[in-house]
Amino acid sequence: MSEVEFIGATKRYDDGTLALDSLDLRIEEGEFLVLLGPSGCGKSTALRLLAGLEDITGGEVRIGGGKVNDLPPGARGIGMVFQSYALYPHMTVRENLSFGLRRSRSRDRVSEAEIASRVDEATDMLDLHNVLDKKPRELSGGQQQRVAIGRALVRRPKVLLMDEPLSNLDAKLRNRMRYELRRLHELHETTTLYVTHDQVEAMTLADRIAIIADGRLQQHAKPLDAYHRPANSFVASFLGTPAMNLIEGVAKNGVFTAGGLSFTLPEHLAEWKGPGIYGVRPEDVRIREGGEVPCVVGGIERLGSNAIYHLETSGHWIRVLQHRSDSGTEPPDRAEQGKLAVTLAVPSALIFRD
Ligand code: ADP
Repeated sequence: MSEVEFIGATKRYDDGTLALDSLDLRIEEGEFLVLLGPSGCGKSTALRLLAGLEDITGGEVRIGGGKVNDLPPGARGIGMVFQSYALYPHMTVRENLSFGLRRSRSRDRVSEAEIASRVDEATDMLDLHNVLDKKPRELSGGQQQRVAIGRALVRRPKVLLMDEPLSNLDAKLRNRMRYELRRLHELHETTTLYVTHDQVEAMTLADRIAIIADGRLQQHAKPLDAYHRPANSFVASFLGTPAMNLIEGVAKNGVFTAGGLSFTLPEHLAEWKGPGIYGVRPEDVRIREGGEVPCVVGGIERLGSNAIYHLETSGHWIRVLQHRSDSGTEPPDRAEQGKLAVTLAVPSALIFRD
């Protein structure tokens, strides 16, 4: 069994920084969980507590049901892949893959035949045939990354930990490796905890996402559940590009008012009363003639397949994402940018009380 549990897991560093504040989180056996949050929110700390690279200062971490707080890192059955691949530069790919197995302590020593079989399997899975006899410096970033993953997998870890493993790659390679990582996970199904600040990685890789801010868990959900039903305005603004429009104001009698801006609330929010943050995704705002909210176009980002409109109304900025296939037209040229009307009364809008 290889499920992972954080139970009230807390880390306060010696200088007083509370990096992780009572984290309760369960990762099921075979699950791919992504810890997502801005830089400094405590993601790596959580990973390092699980790996045994930092001492926990409160609560428990468990692997396969057993408390591991006091186990040394080598006895926790964990494989790690870091942002810097940390391959041995003087060894070939083949030697890098097998080195950790040869070095195993006598208790879990692996036979030469078994080592060869595991290296073959990793070579197939990660498509490393052509580079087995090369040294790391002769490999591309993506190939080095795959060797680092292979080296962790040949040890048959109960749990695989990855800390921003794609950040050193250029954008195109990152996209490809993201897809490969997911495919690989479906092949080996190792329980995986993956740390990133990149919400696209989180959305595409995860079975479930745990979103963290200031050392605290904000939401633990399937990616699309978190996207469509964010627990608070932080999660709402963190998931999605362009980010969700968030407008602070007051709801009363089915109307939302924010300074000089007011608009009718959609039916499911009509009963809402009092102060709140109205949230609507850029792809849910409609630009249409006769819309309820008159706006001035501040700028348009033309991305080819879609365009992002930045609209101003009564001192608020609203982002609108328009797909070319939906509007059927290209966005207007700069000279034609002028007044537009949008409607915010969309079915998927939300109000947050935080
Ligand atoms: P993330 O991985 O989300 O970027 P970290 O877990 O690395 O965040 O850090 C969380 C917080 O703990 C940050 O405020 C960071 O400055 C602090 N921190 C991390 N390591 C140490 C340390 N060894 N000593 C003191 N503070 C630390």
